[in-house]
Amino acid sequence: MKTIGLIGGMSWESTMSYYRLINEAVKVALGGLHSAKLVLVSVDFAEIEKLQHQGKWDETGEILSEAAKNLEKAGADFILICTNTMHLVAPQIQASVSIPLLHIADATAEEVIKFGISKIGLLGTAFTMEEDFYKGRLEKKYGLEVIVPNQMDRKIIHQIIYDELCLGKIEDVSRKEYLRIIDTLTVQGAEGVILGCTEIALLVKPQHTTTELFDTTRIHALKAVEKALG
Ligand code: GLU
Repeated sequence: MKTIGLIGGMSWESTMSYYRLINEAVKVALGGLHSAKLVLVSVDFAEIEKLQHQGKWDETGEILSEAAKNLEKAGADFILICTNTMHLVAPQIQASVSIPLLHIADATAEEVIKFGISKIGLLGTAFTMEEDFYKGRLEKKYGLEVIVPNQMDRKIIHQIIYDELCLGKIEDVSRKEYLRIIDTLTVQGAEGVILGCTEIALLVKPQHTTTELFDTTRIHALKAVEKALG
């Protein structure tokens, strides 16, 4: 079994999901008392969040590159950045180590394509919904047509992530908002919706909607286990 390296803490609420999903999948695959070999470097999200909103991405990249180097030193065979947003600096992080990075958008796109879907909705932070590193990657590398909510709804999605989900607050009113926005994307032709933020699945679950949901946390974690056991 290979050793999985996790850059976590963004937020720790979703890093817990990664830890649980990875270990559950190893248990299903190997049975008994088997659990995952992994190393975690967890950062202080308050520092990262501040730099994000100041547009100081290079500095976030330096912090996460340091984390990646520590994972490599600790024996990780490959790395996961446990957040969609911070893949904005994935190239910088990858350049700092010689072990591979398992990109969350690649894992997700492969899963969406398996479902035969070509037009997909995307929810995440404003950075993920608006910048090219994520949406652009899905479009250019995988030929997917990606639609995102209108500006007002993007703002709602973004605020709920930072003001509630990353703080462990799960509110019914916020779930209603997310479901309304998911319905709108479906009406606009989305054949499924990517939960492109690692905390969204804490709020919106498959039983809440008939729309096909692609939970990036789950997809990314399971891909890591496949790679570790492969
Ligand atoms: N975990 C979230 C994501 O997947 C948002 C937190 C962050 O900005 O990293 O994008």
